[in-house]
Amino acid sequence: MKYISKSSYMAGIDCPRMLWQKLWDRKSAAPLDGMTELIFEFGNRFGVLAHQLFPGAVLIDINIFKLNRAVEDTKKAIERGVDVILEATFCYEQCRVLSDVVERQEDGTWHLIEVKSSTHVKDEHYPDLAYQKWVMEQAGYPVSQCSVIHADRDGVWPDVASVFKQVDVTEEVNAAVQVVGDNVAAMVPLAQPGSAAPDARPLFSKVCHDCDFKKTVCWKDINEPTIYDVVDVRKIPGLEALDVFYVKDIPDDYDLYTNDRRNVDCMNSQGVDIDRAGLQPMLDELEYPIYFLDFETAAVAVPLFDGNHPWEKLPFQYSLHIMEENGEVRHTEYLHEKNSDPAEALADRLAGDIGQRGSVVVYHKTMESGVLKYLAERFPQHAASMQSTVDRLWDLEVVFLKHYRDWRFGSRSSIKVVLPTLVPELTYDDETISDGGAASLAWVRMLESDDFITRQEKADALRRYCKLDTIAMVELLKHVRVVMEG
Ligand code: SF4
Repeated sequence: MKYISKSSYMAGIDCPRMLWQKLWDRKSAAPLDGMTELIFEFGNRFGVLAHQLFPGAVLIDINIFKLNRAVEDTKKAIERGVDVILEATFCYEQCRVLSDVVERQEDGTWHLIEVKSSTHVKDEHYPDLAYQKWVMEQAGYPVSQCSVIHADRDGVWPDVASVFKQVDVTEEVNAAVQVVGDNVAAMVPLAQPGSAAPDARPLFSKVCHDCDFKKTVCWKDINEPTIYDVVDVRKIPGLEALDVFYVKDIPDDYDLYTNDRRNVDCMNSQGVDIDRAGLQPMLDELEYPIYFLDFETAAVAVPLFDGNHPWEKLPFQYSLHIMEENGEVRHTEYLHEKNSDPAEALADRLAGDIGQRGSVVVYHKTMESGVLKYLAERFPQHAASMQSTVDRLWDLEVVFLKHYRDWRFGSRSSIKVVLPTLVPELTYDDETISDGGAASLAWVRMLESDDFITRQEKADALRRYCKLDTIAMVELLKHVRVVMEG
């Protein structure tokens, strides 16, 4: 027999097949990417840190293979009059939940508190708490109040209390609890041994986008672009109503947004669509020396250093290629390897590396612009230099978003898609770090490791990865210029 946990219940609300996969075939889930791993890890750390808000509380010892023991321990703690229990575990028939905090009220009811590392209460927190409340009440423990404790961006480390904020959500949870009984009744048959996997096909939808079983199970044989890859979410219901799933089946006269229609036509014709009239003026804006800049950052729920806030985006590395008018290209970089706040040392180096004239090419300028403004605000001595750099940003992604579409990009414009398509000799495939989330995770692991070899390996991988991002921009710009001259 399988128990329906909080995460299984939440999966079941989204998709019965996802619930079934989690219960019976969890090993098929795609491995976590670096960013998800980092968020999970710091989410756990945030939860453990929250225990400090409840001095004197009793912590139930959790062994995930012996959760019935945790249920018993919780029951005994309640019976002996404990008022605040951390990781309290409740069970009703096939429903079992671990609740972060339960507090006994004067009237004998309970205050249920969920700790979330997000910076605000999200809609998805209500059904999560509603399920816990329902299970507690079915088990005989009435819940009169529900709250979420989330991360407070204004909190300043190491003041632990300041990084948490508690919000009462009793009303919203009471509304969400009305449907829990019916939901559970629909889910329980899937938790019986031998239950058949619900058919995934009719469930294909936007929900699949972030699902761990998309690529490994339900969509594994889908090799053609689907409407969910390309079409704006507002236009999806109409296509679903027409039973259209693949891009190739979108009717020619179906009303799509202009950019989506352009992508669809490009993909269906397997062509390349270059808007020369729009692209040339953009290229003409470039001024030498041309800098190619890329930052790596880390943002986690539990601040890493004194003075930091939860989820503060700390830049810890940059790579900078510099192209002179004669074609010469040189490289410089910074990686913060000490276990300390990296921002000031990085700003000092960057201010010295980047000159006061010349274009600064980035890929997806929101990120680099945000980091530069953050540095300007924190370090007034560099404000003028950082602002000057912001003013000279030139976003290479705009070229591939608006002016240069290749059907192989699909609807995407990420450098991870564009680079291997146009410059196949450069690839991220051989790198141990292949995305920004993995870079953040590697940096945190490097700082926390006592092993010299491990630190060295992480540092080398980070340098290679970040350098590849900027050399990629150099090569993509060269490619675009050659195409335009051709
Ligand atoms: S990929 Fe889609 S259909 Fe399959 S389990 Fe996930 S959400 Fe459900």
